Amino acid sequence: MVAGIVAGRLAVVTGAGSGIGRATCQVLSREGATVIAADKNYEAALETIKTHTVLSSQSNGLAGHSAVELDVSDSKSVQKLLEKVRKQYKAPATIVVNSAGITRDNWLTKMSEEDYDAVLNVNLKGSFLVMQAFARAMVIASLPGSIINISSIIGKHGNKGQTNYSASKAGVIAMTRSAAIELGKMNIRVNAILPGYFKTPMVDTVPEKVIQGVLKMVPLARMGDPLEVAEVITFLASDKSSFITGAAIDVNGGL
Ligand code: NAD
Repeated sequence: MVAGIVAGRLAVVTGAGSGIGRATCQVLSREGATVIAADKNYEAALETIKTHTVLSSQSNGLAGHSAVELDVSDSKSVQKLLEKVRKQYKAPATIVVNSAGITRDNWLTKMSEEDYDAVLNVNLKGSFLVMQAFARAMVIASLPGSIINISSIIGKHGNKGQTNYSASKAGVIAMTRSAAIELGKMNIRVNAILPGYFKTPMVDTVPEKVIQGVLKMVPLARMGDPLEVAEVITFLASDKSSFITGAAIDVNGGL
């Protein structure tokens, strides 16, 4: 078994084919977890497993890492993932990281209903569906666990062109707190991370002028590396954070 702060644990990471999700798979596996990389883009999730994870030995009784295609906004797809985990690993995942997310930016006055729904469906409903399915499995198995939902600084402060995205991310913070209150007695902890600006494909779409403007407000004067937030996620997944639940943790260079 790979030694580490989450050794022998089974982790499901959504949005695992890119950015923060991919970095999270890397750090969780380095710290000994067996990782299920789930993404709408199966090839990208597979690439994460092949090139970014530390090989899991199977001595902890679990099968090795795996990649799965998942659309978090589709309850049938989430149930299919749950069933696959049950069959393949014969143990519930006790670490769940909701990192799948999208943006469809536009001014409030121009935003289509379709773009509003798309963002809410993936970022908020998707996190709900995955959290609900895997929390249920933990409760049934009477196992403690840790769920980490990736919100955003925008969920707290808002942003131009992001009424849909900010609403979804504020919803994730509120949902996290409610779930933490419900699940605390079962020792299932639920926390939200509010990243600032990280170098990922999602942020690559933001115009350089906007990024430069943001960086002027970041005391650490740079964007974050996805691995820096993955370390915090892994800490929250581990027993090192055993008395932290319902928290909304800023990881933003001081922005
Ligand atoms: P990214 O675009 O690099 O990766 C997102 C991944 O989610 C992609 O692999 C994509 O295929 C997957 N995905 C999209 N829709 C999906 C669906 N319906 N089902 C399953 N997978 C789906 O983005 P990122 O920068 O790594 O962002 C990860 C999370 O962090 C997102 O929730 C994002 O909102 C949040 N976040 C990112 C930043 C940042 O600076 N990068 C800042 C704040 C919050």
